[in-house]
Amino acid sequence: MKKHLCIMAGDGIGPEIMSQGLRVLDKIAEKFGHEFTKEEVLIGGIAIDKTGSPLPDATVEACKKADAVLLGAVGGPQWDTIDPAIRPEKGLLGIRKALGLFANLRPARLFPELAGACLLRPDIVKDGLDLMVVRELTGGIYFGKPAGVEVRDGKRVGYNTMIYNEDEVRRIAHIAFKAAMKRKKKVCSVDKANVLDVSRLWREIILEVAKEYPEVELSHLYVDNAAMQLVRDPSQFDVIVTSNLFGDILSDEASVITGSIGMLASASLGNEYAGLYEPIHGSAPDIAGQGKANPLATILSIAMMLLHEFDLEKEALCIENAVRKTLQDGYRTGDIMEEGKILCNTTEITDRVIERL
Ligand code: NAD
Repeated sequence: MKKHLCIMAGDGIGPEIMSQGLRVLDKIAEKFGHEFTKEEVLIGGIAIDKTGSPLPDATVEACKKADAVLLGAVGGPQWDTIDPAIRPEKGLLGIRKALGLFANLRPARLFPELAGACLLRPDIVKDGLDLMVVRELTGGIYFGKPAGVEVRDGKRVGYNTMIYNEDEVRRIAHIAFKAAMKRKKKVCSVDKANVLDVSRLWREIILEVAKEYPEVELSHLYVDNAAMQLVRDPSQFDVIVTSNLFGDILSDEASVITGSIGMLASASLGNEYAGLYEPIHGSAPDIAGQGKANPLATILSIAMMLLHEFDLEKEALCIENAVRKTLQDGYRTGDIMEEGKILCNTTEITDRVIERL
């Protein structure tokens, strides 16, 4: 397979973790006979410094032509005081919008070797934790109109509108069911259909789309119960699909319980252009340039790209198994270090992964 990738390393630890991730990708290409051409483009703080904009037009154009986009991280204290209109984060929001990325896929996986970092009791995670939250990203209450703050009858009132049309629900449902087909074939749709009309429509459409995926087991939970079940018994979940607001909260909850921010990957998908793959953590300015960054979230984002963008299941699994084996053999970066393990820098842990591919 021959594919063209757009690489946005970004700021802080972004370039360090990206260069290590690409070493793993190169090895996979060699091992399985693929060719990945790469084009490096600017985003975030470094783009502001070099062009005056956190998202230069050239970056958008290159990403629109690519078969997949990889991102490190953006931001840092040196850009905290600049004009809010051109802050590094604007680059991230801008590229998601330009590529029409309406679905955010956030796997939360606890490698048994890192169970000590998990915030839940060992008996609760004895069966592991490997779920994925599929969050709608461009609709719902964050964008619904009308919205505002105004004075009514002498009192200030604030309001937003939670609104979805059937097409918005249908397209995110397809993403979730397709993702489940590549996993344990279970989807749990999370809503608040006992109270919200918008959730009743959500549930109706999810049920319609489910008919096209007879192999997938579908369940529904109200969001308050889902938040509870995530800490009570997270192993019951495979894919959770939900709206923008509920997904914002549940995806953070799911990832924080794993306790290892440097291990978590994500994907944002649309219909028209390629998907964007990135670690969920930020640019970690406190450790940038010191060789301390954990590159495993980026490496696992590359595995997600191979699986979800290119359907390269064997290749994705090869990376995941190599990461798992690296942890099993006791290698750790500082953020996941435990007594008795072998401390590695960013390059060394990548070497250990590459040896195990
Ligand atoms: P952060 O995720 O960058 O860092 C939080 C803590 O986790 C820090 O102590 C950091 O050292 C540690 N950490 C994060 N990733 C790590 C890794 N791979 N290996 C080892 N340790 C790691 O979040 P923050 O400190 O709140 O934000 C720093 C900057 O990143 C800010 O400018 C913020 O706006 C930006 N940010 C960017 C993104 C993104 O690009 N997607 C996401 C979140 C934050």
